[in-house]
Amino acid sequence: MHEMSIAEGIVQVLEDQAREQSYTKVKTVWLEIGPLAMIESEALRFCFEAVTRDTLADGATLKIINIKGEAFCMQCLKNVPITQRYDSCVECGSHHLQVTQGDEMRIKELEVD
Ligand SMILES: [Zn+2]
Repeated sequence: MHEMSIAEGIVQVLEDQAREQSYTKVKTVWLEIGPLAMIESEALRFCFEAVTRDTLADGATLKIINIKGEAFCMQCLKNVPITQRYDSCVECGSHHLQVTQGDEMRIKELEVD
């Protein structure tokens, strides 16, 4: 399951930023996840708890914000909502879509000490 390596990546970022911004404890992490990132929220939560043990984020709360998927339709020439990578346009049924949002995962905010 790739959630484990994602969780490890998050801890890595937290540790790097701790050195730059000189904090010693992470209390809350807000994480934005798009529907196309194929990340299982519950699995990630479980992995996060496991990999943060004995780190600066030990006991930190993980808050997951699910952002919407969006793509630009070449046919309609506008942004349309999508829920999967190979969705067709909800308005015209075209498959000429370019994903503009929803395949990312990023740390939006941190609460630190
Ligand atoms: Zn369209």
